[in-house]
Amino acid sequence: MVKINNVLILAGTHGNELSGIYIDKLIRDNLYNVQRSSFTSFSKLVNLRAIECATRYLETDLNREFSNEKNHEIANSHEKLLSQNFIAENVQQGDQGNNQLFIDLHNTTSNMGATLILLSNDAFYKKMGAYVKQQMPEANILFEDEKTWEEQAYLCTADKYGVMIEVGAQAHGSLQHNTLILMQKMLSAVLDYVEQSNLNTLGSLKNYDAFYFTEEVAIPIDQDGLRSAMVHPGICGKDFEVVKHGEPLLITLQGEEISRVDTPETYPHFINESAYCKKHIAMALADKRLVVVE
Ligand SMILES: [Zn+2]
Repeated sequence: MVKINNVLILAGTHGNELSGIYIDKLIRDNLYNVQRSSFTSFSKLVNLRAIECATRYLETDLNREFSNEKNHEIANSHEKLLSQNFIAENVQQGDQGNNQLFIDLHNTTSNMGATLILLSNDAFYKKMGAYVKQQMPEANILFEDEKTWEEQAYLCTADKYGVMIEVGAQAHGSLQHNTLILMQKMLSAVLDYVEQSNLNTLGSLKNYDAFYFTEEVAIPIDQDGLRSAMVHPGICGKDFEVVKHGEPLLITLQGEEISRVDTPETYPHFINESAYCKKHIAMALADKRLVVVE
């Protein structure tokens, strides 16, 4: 299995997601330990101007700027320039002997608890999910592996290894104790996994249920550009709970229920995420599958 030499903990990729930004402060104040024996750890705030302005981003979403295709675009926004500088400063290009893992910390307004987002289904990540789930049974493990690593636009995919920790529900711009503790717990579990994996002391890991992203659900828009439906009240706040075939996901302004579930069951998440407001995304859907690790 891969040996990780360096972990870079990233926060403030979205400037109004405060749990990660305050974990970075706790690390700098020596109040939260992220050091382990088999790798070096550093933390970094990414979009300083967005943090100062307490906003997700100034011009474009920094966490959608890192696909191979995007990397060749001209730097015509604050975040585009920032993405190019980030790569130049932090990505270990061509350094074959050194493996770096990015852990990018995010908050969501959706009721997703502590969710570990894994962007590849290979053994390193499948075992990470198993280890985190073993340490933290309340964790949700979400694979978004429908794209290749090169096609992924998330900041944590800028180097060879990366994951995201997404914790909610927390309103953007606010800081809650429970979400801060959940994020610390999941970050510690990921760091412990890397340590045990590096030292070859993982022991036996159990198979576990994980969610696999399938699609986003768009909110219908009328001829005036306004929404003609919203998330159905039956699923608001029920991220990762099952919705069965025929059960409604949306409800129109007139009260008509819309199902859209054409599989036997689906698991909505990022339900009513406020950052997806401009894109009119109601939620994402996932399948639940058993992950076999041994
Ligand atoms: Zn975010």
